Amino acid sequence: MSNITAEQEAKRYFSRELLAWYDEHKRDLPWRRSRNPYHIWISEIMLQQTRVDTVIPYFLRFVEKFPTVEILANAPEEEVLKCWEGLGYYSRARNIQSAAKQVVERHGGIVPDTPEEISALKGIGPYTAGAVLSIAYNVPVPAVDGNVMRVLSRYFCLEDDIAKNPTRIKMEKLAGELIPAGRASDFNQALMELGALICTPKSPHCLTCPVMKHCKGRINGMEEQLPIKTKAKPPRPEHRLLAVIEGEGEHAGKVLIRQRPATGLLARMWELPHVIAEESKKAGAGAGLSEEAAMQRLSQALHNEGVDIRPGEAWMTAEHTFSHIQWYMRVFLCTEVNASAEQAASTAAENASANTNADVSVKDTDPSAIHTDAKPSRGTRQPQVSKMQELEQGTLDIKLSGTTPESLENIRQQLAVSAATDTMDKISHVAEQQEAYAAVPSTLLGEAFDYDYRWISREDMEKYAFPNLFLKILQQYFNEK
Ligand code: SF4
Repeated sequence: MSNITAEQEAKRYFSRELLAWYDEHKRDLPWRRSRNPYHIWISEIMLQQTRVDTVIPYFLRFVEKFPTVEILANAPEEEVLKCWEGLGYYSRARNIQSAAKQVVERHGGIVPDTPEEISALKGIGPYTAGAVLSIAYNVPVPAVDGNVMRVLSRYFCLEDDIAKNPTRIKMEKLAGELIPAGRASDFNQALMELGALICTPKSPHCLTCPVMKHCKGRINGMEEQLPIKTKAKPPRPEHRLLAVIEGEGEHAGKVLIRQRPATGLLARMWELPHVIAEESKKAGAGAGLSEEAAMQRLSQALHNEGVDIRPGEAWMTAEHTFSHIQWYMRVFLCTEVNASAEQAASTAAENASANTNADVSVKDTDPSAIHTDAKPSRGTRQPQVSKMQELEQGTLDIKLSGTTPESLENIRQQLAVSAATDTMDKISHVAEQQEAYAAVPSTLLGEAFDYDYRWISREDMEKYAFPNLFLKILQQYFNEK
């Protein structure tokens, strides 16, 4: 009589049938054509949060432009971001390049083949480490992501919450036990393939599934309910005002873009100037702002950065969702205020009035321009002490309901230790961890910086890396011109 339990038999059956199915049905994907660990690493990072069909052209372009780890490590970051443009989650691209530098410095350009070494590289978590080690080097380690947890939850009818870390650890143990000797590479890919093609999130194709016979989830009629996953907090709505600033004179035919700060959300990417619609900690604040008030707000905020605009018309709306925040953009077509005309108007106004201190108006010559007070002009403006610097210096007085003194103190401490490195990442992380993010004003999260501005034409777009949202607005703008 056999000593094999029903559970052991179900595991063996799963591994055997899955591999047989994979051998016959696996897709021909570019990164499967070799065991090149660099290619597998790039593909695995690109595939996070992104569909295979979308990734294929990006992958091919990326490895053509950066064919080796050394070439990637030594490339200008701007080129790496440009190659990633449109894929989203841009910190992945920056992390890949940082890790490439580590691979060159520590491992002579060879992607390491041990869990300890590969896990020490920037941006490589347990899933990516497992995927690269198993697929490229056939190391028998699990590679467990959401797809794999879905398959295992259903097949073994596990009702653990896959959003929780202990469940992931349990799944990694289980997945590790299922790897057949000598077949780690194929088995882990087979598991991913089953999740992608058959055991899909909605309406799994059980009738064509190679492991249907022993699938406990299906047998119990729970394939549609599994896996159990507690819902993530919905992204916080944030209303913003965006200016497409058209140039005049020497800038005719161009629009003004700016570069985001070196750390934090969309770090160092280029964007169209935009501001939060209302400085408020309330989610969705500023949604009902009138057009006139919105233009005033936009003009004032950009003026504070040294950019003066003549607001034109409301043009379009756009949205973008990040994991924790959703941007609702109202886009305005604006025109630059010509600096020399402004200067002449200011002089005229000074001559014409005895009361000429800070409240300089150019209404006589330019009735639609909005000016508020004496200001630095773009190109000569002085760097301002940002809210971030004030916070770092402990001079910013923050009164936020819903944010405990402890959480703010924690944020201050994190800032103090990380001021020179990933300050923005840290503050986002800390704030999210403490569920205080919604209470932290956006001025602390990427607004109050001395931005680098450039005038660009349609052709110049090729030189800069834009997040999708801004890329689409710019493309539409130039297409309609
Ligand atoms: S039988 Fe259905 S639920 Fe079970 S693993 Fe296959 S596709 Fe998923």
